[in-house]
Amino acid sequence: MVKKTVIKVDYSKCHSKANTDPRDCRKCLLICDPAIFLMHPTLEDDHPDPHNPEIWRIDPIWLSKCTGCMKCVEACPEQAITVIPGTSLHEMKAR
Ligand code: SF4
Ligand code: SF4
Repeated sequence: MVKKTVIKVDYSKCHSKANTDPRDCRKCLLICDPAIFLMHPTLEDDHPDPHNPEIWRIDPIWLSKCTGCMKCVEACPEQAITVIPGTSLHEMKAR
């Protein structure tokens, strides 16, 4: 049975320091070899101010490419990322 990978980002921790902007950190984004994270502004406002750090998010998007290496978990200075590995593409191709 194929198990889906679960990756969660706790945004209260990612933005834990006053005026923290995830664009200044990006450690998870840079260390992930399969590049599963996407940085984007939230779409809650019709005209979000791109200079407001509060609107920026790092989201895990391409979950099926995650290898479960845990580099993002280890690299995050705020312990904001949880990864529960499922069945990776590498394992599926090996079957
Ligand atoms: S566990 Fe590894 S492959 Fe998966 S999101 Fe984190 S850094 Fe990327
Ligand atoms: S490494 Fe952690 S604190 Fe830095 S942008 Fe990613 S989730 Fe946010």
